Amino acid sequence: MKVLRNIIVWNLVIKRGISVSASKNQFFGGALPFGYDIDENKKYVVNETETVFVREIYELYAGVNTEAGICRYMNEQQVKTKKGKAWNKSSLKRILCNRRYLGYYLYQDMETKSGIPQIIDEDLFEQVKQQLDRNKKARSSRKADEVYILTTKLFCGLCESSMFGICGTSHTGEKHYYYKCSGARKGCKKKSIQRDLLDDPIIEDILKFLDDDVIDGVAKALYEMLQEENESGNILRLEKLLEENKKAADNLLTAVMSGKGTDLLLEKLQQVQNEQKDIQEQILIEKSGLLDADLPEIRKYVKRFKHLDYTEEKNRQDLVETFVNKIWLYDDRKAKVRYNITDFRGHNVGSFYGRMVEVTGIEPVTLCL
Ligand SMILES: [Zn+2]
Repeated sequence: MKVLRNIIVWNLVIKRGISVSASKNQFFGGALPFGYDIDENKKYVVNETETVFVREIYELYAGVNTEAGICRYMNEQQVKTKKGKAWNKSSLKRILCNRRYLGYYLYQDMETKSGIPQIIDEDLFEQVKQQLDRNKKARSSRKADEVYILTTKLFCGLCESSMFGICGTSHTGEKHYYYKCSGARKGCKKKSIQRDLLDDPIIEDILKFLDDDVIDGVAKALYEMLQEENESGNILRLEKLLEENKKAADNLLTAVMSGKGTDLLLEKLQQVQNEQKDIQEQILIEKSGLLDADLPEIRKYVKRFKHLDYTEEKNRQDLVETFVNKIWLYDDRKAKVRYNITDFRGHNVGSFYGRMVEVTGIEPVTLCL
């Protein structure tokens, strides 16, 4: 229940919180893009040092330098990403296609022109875009779409090891996608399974039990839980967490200042400081009353899962992320699935938490493939 609660509430809160902030072109949590800072009014301002590098990255890429080459260059300059990490291809990509550098304030499908300071002009951005498209085309001829929505949820029924996605090419040159037991190296005999033989039934199964009754039940339980939390003082808990976090940051800072500043310590400090920002953000959300989602709103959010287009990879991923807790896969084409919710129709109506599956208990259990 906690898991489901966290996923759903967090999504709800973030959506409402962001739409409030978005109307004012304000920053709302998440990763801050390289090149910008946030001022005390939560508005984007230019970070002078980083901006120079953003422009340089664009010029280098438009000048047909390789991604690896640009990363190497950035790392040689001792410039870190916003997360305090070394540059790699994915952090570089995020820079190269980020429309914020054109001055757009972005939120979901909404773009506000001149919502934030512009760093890259349209011509250069377009040049880079074309270069990205060219490279993508060259790459996609080599690499098919490899998304494994069940990774992190899927475990081997024989040896309990996690299962991961692999791709193989048959003698006809056709690509095949599988989940494979990571215990194979240690001798597990579990056979690999074709990805689509598992993904599709799981999706169908979730949608089957997600009928109106269940949706009502989930929404109601979540609503009651939120009410309870509001009364029990979540803010106090968060403030305590913040205090502990500040202590940890102070200790790390002292260690760094005393010359014990290894890269590891610095990285840890950065991480603690990022957490601090998250907690402060959460406190802000709590205090703004955004958590007072009413029952119809929660129901609408849960219900939306019934009508999403599940040919879209993103929606498949969201559905699994929200409702599937863990899957054990056996060799006789059977899987045991633990969902984040149980059946609301009459069973287990005792304790509040008992109505949904938390860490123990297995529901609705068997899925025949
Ligand atoms: Zn295994």
